Amino acid sequence: MYVYLNNKIVPLSDARVSVFDHGFLYGDGIYETMRVYDGVVFMLDEHIERLYRSASLIGLNIPKRIADIKISIYETLKANSLTNAYVRLTISRGYGPIGLDPDLCKEPTFVVITNEFKSYPRSYYEEGIKLTIASVRRNSKEALNPQIKSLNFLNNILAKIEAKQVDAYEAIMLNVSGHLAEGTISNIFFMKDGILCTPSIECGILDGITRALVIDLALKNGLEVKEGRFAPEELYMASEVFITNTTMEVMPVSSIDKTEFKAGEISKLLLKKYRQEVNGYVKEKKAEGPSLWE
Ligand code: PMP
Repeated sequence: MYVYLNNKIVPLSDARVSVFDHGFLYGDGIYETMRVYDGVVFMLDEHIERLYRSASLIGLNIPKRIADIKISIYETLKANSLTNAYVRLTISRGYGPIGLDPDLCKEPTFVVITNEFKSYPRSYYEEGIKLTIASVRRNSKEALNPQIKSLNFLNNILAKIEAKQVDAYEAIMLNVSGHLAEGTISNIFFMKDGILCTPSIECGILDGITRALVIDLALKNGLEVKEGRFAPEELYMASEVFITNTTMEVMPVSSIDKTEFKAGEISKLLLKKYRQEVNGYVKEKKAEGPSLWE
């Protein structure tokens, strides 16, 4: 396996970061996860845009131009001969002495990891996955805005531990005022009274790239969509529930704690539309000419 570290591709055995890296010491950094279909990074521009937004929200200067970031991703995919893959791009504050001051770090650390994408089991899409509502709350946007896709993931990890304790695949967190927020790595949607509902960005969530596309596809397919503040009880009364993220796409939910759901028609429809969108995107990018690295 090869990894892109700072300015070059290196074998995994040489892909080392210092114990003084502030990403390691303080979780001071940002990241993006992307999915690659047939050699094309899906919605690359949107991911890079969000990366720059996260960077700006933590006062981090990305030491590369957008075009160079794209090249680094495609070069890493090429070095690993990957066409169906995921990409994890991480930028930490970098190497520096102990201390919180970001100015202690002269140069951010830039890493691109790519690996083969292994599909989720079919049963996850056919029957759905189990969720739990975690007792830990999503950190408030006034404390650490979930819109910053940061390396500081303990909030989500605490919820994930709760999910594991009850054998659930994903945990949904409420925000500090008790409204639905999001999963540890996903956004949540549910159908209620024929309306597709999802917590609004103001609830303190990451504005998922998949979430935005799914809302768009739902509207285009004649569904009414409501982004708002929802009590967890509303979720229990839903006719169907699904979660979204870059790797899972649209994944139906079979239960939330003791309440059961069917993998319903709307999740199936939106998953189908999502995959059609992916196919169209891949075709379009390929028609534009050879990949950046060819
Ligand atoms: N919320 C959180 C907390 C996440 O970590 C993710 C995964 N990046 C998402 C939502 C979904 O975002 P996306 O659709 O951009 O993958």
